[in-house]
Amino acid sequence: MRWGLIGASNIAAGHMIGAIRGAGGDIRSVLSSSADRAKSYAAEHGIAHGCDDLDAMLAADDLDAVYISTTNEKHFAQAMAAIAMGKHVLCEKPLAMSVADAVTMVHAADAAGVVFGTNHHLRNAGSHLAIREAVAAGRIGDVLSVRVFHAVYLPPFLHGWRLDNPGAGGGVIPDIVVHDADTVRFHLGEDPVDVVAIDAASGLGQGVEDSCMSVWTMPSGAMVMAHESFTHAYAQTGLEIYGTKGAIIARNVMTQRPIGQITLRTASGEEEIGFSDHNLYARALDHFHAAIKGQGRPSADGIDGIKSLAVAAAVAKAAKTGQRTAVDYGGV
Ligand code: NDP
Repeated sequence: MRWGLIGASNIAAGHMIGAIRGAGGDIRSVLSSSADRAKSYAAEHGIAHGCDDLDAMLAADDLDAVYISTTNEKHFAQAMAAIAMGKHVLCEKPLAMSVADAVTMVHAADAAGVVFGTNHHLRNAGSHLAIREAVAAGRIGDVLSVRVFHAVYLPPFLHGWRLDNPGAGGGVIPDIVVHDADTVRFHLGEDPVDVVAIDAASGLGQGVEDSCMSVWTMPSGAMVMAHESFTHAYAQTGLEIYGTKGAIIARNVMTQRPIGQITLRTASGEEEIGFSDHNLYARALDHFHAAIKGQGRPSADGIDGIKSLAVAAAVAKAAKTGQRTAVDYGGV
């Protein structure tokens, strides 16, 4: 599978270049807004071509797929251009700056017959796969509520557009709430109905929120409480799911690494749930390549990307207005 990278980003350097190559992909080119940066990034990562012209890169006719990891405001136009050239697209979250644009992207990919995936890594983690299996097997009965703890300290090397550029899609809501929305949807198999939320710029964020707390209702009646932040140096991430017959308590699982602990608590006592420690991004790539070959779907597809963005958009609107806000899934 021949790949092009759209965006000379940290996530590509840190995780995705290795994942694509590990899945047998051949990375032919990388695009940056700066020709010099494209060339230096290409040289650093052993990529043959670095360029600053998207149309030329897509027209080169040696790419099957592109991975888009530019800042968020660029995803829409770049994905639409790649789809128009018949390339399969794995796009970073949030898919776009609006739900309507995300719907347009995903419908365009369907119409063009190309595979479209959203790079939600958490649902690829062994920990989250084990949690989902336990919930689906009824080990905690009917789900009553979920608590998501996803307050972290944004690593200094990522300080930049996330903290001061709303036009590039900065802020903790587009950055982390989308992941939590995808993860809760993955575990419960249902989509949030409406939300209330409060956000804050509590030190790091300049013109964007760096912290958010929200509550979501689910069609089943389950309630979800989510906390995301860039400012918490000493917090531990986690996910707790409470049911009528038990609880799942997971610690250190809202992360890019295959780590964490899961405890199942029932009337019989407590037991640890084991899980695979495979690389999250490698699994996403394996599923994406298989989908291109007509075997299954990406681990998170375009609809998942639209829905996680829709929840985040509702949280942002609820925080801004102070109103309980229905999630608008854009008709999907
Ligand atoms: P980066 O800030 O690393 O990259 C975004 C853009 O910033 C790049 O495309 C690049 O522009 C520019 N840039 C990066 N480093 C430099 C530099 N040293 N000098 C000049 N310009 C630079 O963003 P991330 O990698 O953190 O995020 C990119 C996307 O990936 C976002 O959509 C984000 O939401 C998503 N993401 C997803 C994760 C996941 O686990 N699914 C984790 C982290 C991010 P250019 O290409 O023009 O050179």
